[in-house]
Formats: sequence, structure tokens, C-alpha cells
Amino acid sequence: MIAINDEQLAQMRAHGERDYPYECCGLMLGKLEGGRKTVLETYAISNAREEAAKRNRFLIRPEELMRGEKHAREQGFDVVGFYHSHPDDVAVPSQYDLEHAWPTYSYIVMSVEQARAVDLRSWEMESDRSRFNEEEIVSEARP
Ligand SMILES: [Zn+2]
Repeated sequence: MIAINDEQLAQMRAHGERDYPYECCGLMLGKLEGGRKTVLETYAISNAREEAAKRNRFLIRPEELMRGEKHAREQGFDVVGFYHSHPDDVAVPSQYDLEHAWPTYSYIVMSVEQARAVDLRSWEMESDRSRFNEEEIVSEARP
């Protein structure tokens, strides 16, 4: 289960709509306590990319992850997962996503149809890397 407040959900949707027809991607920062993830901040990555790289498929480069982790640590947060959009496609991880995923993180996939974020789902990879399992999203008002 992953808890995300309304403000962070709105920011992820807005990022997906802004980057359409390209895929957006970013990090979810927050707390991991007793197997429960709480997202307290989102960290957009694709905005900072040069135009050519935006055409590439979703992939967070190690130096981008390191920068995000440093930013998280400075606020006492952990990186709890990643989000990205599927322009004009379903909110289900692709085979490519599975091959590039890390275990224990949450992966939010957003469906953005005609520049509107219409669906948003969270996934966790099976530890043997065979598949993603859907994870329940609990939306919370900001504490
Ligand atoms: Zn994907």
C-alpha cells in the first residue's frame, strides 16, 4: 500500500499533462515505515532533460537518481518510488518497464490521453522480477 496526498497526486498528473506527448518521469520521495510507503514530495526529472532525451523511453539515469536521493536525504526523506506517464496508452507497466525496474520501489504509471491524465495506478515488482503486482493507492489530505 502506498499513501499519497492529494497535492502530490495533482502534481504528478500535471507533470504528465505538461510533458505530453512525451513520457514524463520523476521520483517519489517520502517515508518507508513498516512496509508502508508515504509520498510527501515528488521530484520531476524529465523537465530538466534536453529536448532529444525527452523522446527516449522512460529511463531514470543513475546520476539523476543520485541527485534525487541527495535531495531526499537533505529533507530526511527516502526515495520510495518512481512515476512516469504512458502517452495515449494504458496505466500498466510495459515489458520495457519490467526489464528496467528495481525491487521494493513503487512504480506509478499514468495514462495520459490527449494531454489529459485519465488513469493513475501503482505497481511493485515481484522479487523474482517476473511481473508487476498492482498496489493500492490511499489518497490522503495533506497532514
Ligand atoms: Zn512505462
